[in-house]
Amino acid sequence: MLSLFKATKIALNMIRKGQKLYSILHKRCPRCHEGKFFKYKVSFKLFKINELYKTCSKCGQKYYLEPSFYYGAMYVSYGLTVALAVAVFVISYLIGLSPLYILIAITASLLLGSPFVLQLSRIIWINLFVSYDKNALKKND
Ligand SMILES: [Zn+2]
Repeated sequence: MLSLFKATKIALNMIRKGQKLYSILHKRCPRCHEGKFFKYKVSFKLFKINELYKTCSKCGQKYYLEPSFYYGAMYVSYGLTVALAVAVFVISYLIGLSPLYILIAITASLLLGSPFVLQLSRIIWINLFVSYDKNALKKND
């Protein structure tokens, strides 16, 4: 039987370079899909996990397109948070939990999911504005 970890790894390998989902799920530069985007991995040090490199180490893409660029990521974060809350509500409701336990489940999932939502919202936001360029690495040589 496949473990959840293995199944996730196989699913991640099916997403190819050149797709925005690759950059988002692997947290790589939106232009070359090679350079790292975040300085730190997901953890509960909420002020550190949002720290980005200033530019891509591989292709030189600027990660701060303009001052206060990532304020817009709040809208993405809001959407992800609502989607997570609705998903947990529907699952909890279908399982047959009481309203109090549903509330606890939603609160816990939002607290535990907040580091992921913070990072995902930033990488999704920049992917809305920067597209993959297969020649990005060659141009930088
Ligand atoms: Zn890059």
